[in-house]
Amino acid sequence: MDKSRAVYGIDLGTTYSCIAQVDKYDQAVVLANFEGDVTTPSAVYFEDEQHVIVGKEAKGMLATEPDKTVVFVKRQIGIDEAFNKATNNFPYHYDPSEISAFILKKLVKDANDLGDNPEPIKDVVITCPAYFGTKERLQTKQAGEIAGLNVISIINEPTAAAISYGVKSTEPKTVLVYDLGGGTFDVTIINVNGGAIKVIATGGDHHLGGVDWDTLLSEYVLGVFNEQNGTSYSLEDNKELKYSLLLEAERWKKMLSAKQSVKINFNFGGMSCRTEVSRELFDSLTEGKLQETIDATAKVIEIAHQKGLNNIDEFLLVGGSSRMSQVKERIDREFNCDAKLADPDQCVAKGAAIYAMNEAYAQAVRDWEEGEIDVKPETLRGDRTRVVNVTSKTYGTDITDNRVSNIIFANTSLPAKRQMNFLTQVDGQSGVSMKVFESDFTDEQADAVVEDRFCTLLRDETLKLSKSYPAGTTVSVTYDIDNEGILHVNAFVDRDVIDFELKIEGVKSAEELQKSIAAIDKTVVE
Ligand code: AMP
Repeated sequence: MDKSRAVYGIDLGTTYSCIAQVDKYDQAVVLANFEGDVTTPSAVYFEDEQHVIVGKEAKGMLATEPDKTVVFVKRQIGIDEAFNKATNNFPYHYDPSEISAFILKKLVKDANDLGDNPEPIKDVVITCPAYFGTKERLQTKQAGEIAGLNVISIINEPTAAAISYGVKSTEPKTVLVYDLGGGTFDVTIINVNGGAIKVIATGGDHHLGGVDWDTLLSEYVLGVFNEQNGTSYSLEDNKELKYSLLLEAERWKKMLSAKQSVKINFNFGGMSCRTEVSRELFDSLTEGKLQETIDATAKVIEIAHQKGLNNIDEFLLVGGSSRMSQVKERIDREFNCDAKLADPDQCVAKGAAIYAMNEAYAQAVRDWEEGEIDVKPETLRGDRTRVVNVTSKTYGTDITDNRVSNIIFANTSLPAKRQMNFLTQVDGQSGVSMKVFESDFTDEQADAVVEDRFCTLLRDETLKLSKSYPAGTTVSVTYDIDNEGILHVNAFVDRDVIDFELKIEGVKSAEELQKSIAAIDKTVVE
């Protein structure tokens, strides 16, 4: 097979994950899992130390063994020590990137076992929400590495969705991607022009998604259950009740996307309740959540307006939760448009696959030009895509106590590089204090100097000056954000490079990574 096609796109989702490839007919296709489904629940059940089950079966275990089942692990990316005996009843010690690695292993294993690709899957592009910061992106990348994969790149989910859609567009246009998944909500405004996709602005909420709709419906049904049975259960009282209701609620919710009403029969603890929920009732129960997505969308449109972009040509609805009829109805009404629902569950993985193929092809051309390979890569027949990304985070450093000077602002085109200069205060100064902060300030309108309580401290380190320099020597520090949205920090005096690694708490060192790879490799994933 053409090497450019031996690369894969993976949507590592909060609730569902999916793997895709560009086939020999130049079509992006999703590779089904062992259960025959195109998406796999991002649920991990720990049978014991050596056996892990991922997917539908694991999700089903939530109701009976919630303490051994992990869901929504993506919400823990960027948060350390999420799964261990100390923080909850979970009996093993795995961190979020290791648990994510189990999900990736399942996707890859099934695709390897069921597909007809001659080589095992190795090179992948993994997607993440646009607002993931440096730490979250690095941890996502490490999840892939722990799973034994070579992560070519991390790209934003809405960008991937736009690629799977945008490559078909020949007219230049501005598209708003409304991505309502299971646990995250992303809004991105992009420019699509032939093969080039430029991200203009991003926003969203990484704690908003389909599960919130499931929870509201569960709470309503539990109210009816309590009324009919004279009980006073609450969702937080009982994990078994909570998870069996949530699983059922997700099923009822999906039925409501196809039908006007759904008959509900829920049994728990030898008692039952019967009721019927209409789409109208469901929509009114969940109106507040939908409103939150509308407000976040309006905010991103406002950012685009401030950048001089006054017209959105198209609204694209992606993410499984966009299938709820309330979404399109409300978006159309609110923004006076005719939003398109485009392959909502699969387009992210497909876009990542197209991007992966383009990257692999570009690399193959470079290798051929540099004489590393003998055979000129066959020209791709499909469309080429060029992505110009923006950073979704603002980065800065401390200047005085509690004050942060922002250097690169969110929504700046990538790659982005800024340099700051500091002067040494005394002769032979041994170092310069260097704190690296990340924050959610949205664009150039954000204050250049802010209080540090609004920022996340990524790194608190002293830049050690190995040589003796006179007072007043300029120490230059560069902040460099690559195309993947990952920050790199470098420092130098004249031409002397100062050794400074942006070592972020929770991101593994090479040695820690090897340990995780070995530990996960010993586990059987089904
Ligand atoms: P994603 O993360 O994009 O795969 O989206 C997953 C979310 O989409 C979950 O919350 C699902 O319950 C939800 N979802 C999938 N299909 C439907 C449907 N037909 N109607 C409503 N929600 C759906």
